[in-house]
Amino acid sequence: MSVKKELLKRSGSKCELCNSENDLSVKEVSPSDASAEQSILVCKICKNLIQNPDDKKLEHWHCLNDSMWSTQPAIQVMAYRILKSIKAQDLLDILYLEDDIKTWADTKDTNSDEDSEPTLDVNNTKLQAGDSVTIIKDLEVKGAGFTAKRGSVVKNISLTNNPMQIEGRVNGVKIVLVSKFLKKM
Ligand SMILES: [Zn+2]
Repeated sequence: MSVKKELLKRSGSKCELCNSENDLSVKEVSPSDASAEQSILVCKICKNLIQNPDDKKLEHWHCLNDSMWSTQPAIQVMAYRILKSIKAQDLLDILYLEDDIKTWADTKDTNSDEDSEPTLDVNNTKLQAGDSVTIIKDLEVKGAGFTAKRGSVVKNISLTNNPMQIEGRVNGVKIVLVSKFLKKM
């Protein structure tokens, strides 16, 4: 059974934070583990607010008054983290978590930017999405049949999961480039 199916069954096809039945999808609570036990089913609004916290929409999290009492550890952990991020200390004070669940809840989300390894260019300058870089040596582009010439400018790069590599367009083709052969402009 897929994780989503399992979660739909567990939740009765409802957002496990706010009970909405719209646009449900899986949200991993531990980025490294996509099992149902480590994930929750959320609606689009909750998912967006988890990813992009918005102070103007805090009232949506009133739903946590109920969902924080779930017996599912993954839901408890997510509720705890959200309450912490919105500084709802009164609710945190009454939310009781078993020791191992508390430890999980306090483990940093490895997806967050601060934790990920920086992508560095030849001068150890940090590269960010949207930067422009120069290629510092001729690079044969495997599969594309051309050489990315030394001195070529690559605009508007994007980062990849691998800190040693970035993506960018050369000759109109989107390719992966090794960051140490690039220089930030
Ligand atoms: Zn929701």
